[in-house]
Amino acid sequence: MSGESVFLSLGSNLGQREENLLMAVKALRDCLRELRCSSVYETRPLYVRKQPNFLNMVVAGLCLLQPAELLRQILSIELRMGRDRNHYIPKGPRIIDIDILLFGEQIIKQEKLTVPHPHLKERQFVLVPLLELEPELKDPESGRPFSESLQKLGDQGVYIFRA
Ligand code: ADP
Ligand code: MG
Repeated sequence: MSGESVFLSLGSNLGQREENLLMAVKALRDCLRELRCSSVYETRPLYVRKQPNFLNMVVAGLCLLQPAELLRQILSIELRMGRDRNHYIPKGPRIIDIDILLFGEQIIKQEKLTVPHPHLKERQFVLVPLLELEPELKDPESGRPFSESLQKLGDQGVYIFRA
């Protein structure tokens, strides 16, 4: 059993942003084998504009867990890293955010988990690092390459921070 090919999106715009990303990557090694990391990108906030710039990256790996269990582990990493859900502003500043972008070819529509991630195709800060790791990757729902989605987007202010 080799596991499903999983892609996760990581973001941070509070505190030591790059250290936060690296700490999350380290914790994710318990969930993913053959882990690969994209470059780190600095990105302009897309939704709530009056907040610090984000650092974003994508992590790929092989996952032996069930999707719901991976989500549970991810939420536990976010909590351990001090993400405060009591003072939560939707799309607002966060120490760490980890989202499941793709879980193999699986299409999941559950109350607590939607995969492929519902906003994947509208976010340059997700598509750019995702395609850096896997340029030919296709949307399991439509069968279309994600590179097509990226071409349709205007500039959203995504810059390489550390290659
Ligand atoms: P967001 O990432 O949308 O800014 P949160 O990180 O606070 O918001 O996530 C809120 C909830 O989104 C999580 O508790 C989780 O149950 C749900 N969720 C649904 N689909 C996904 C997914 N693909 N990856 C991560 N969380 C997801
Ligand atoms: Mg999230």
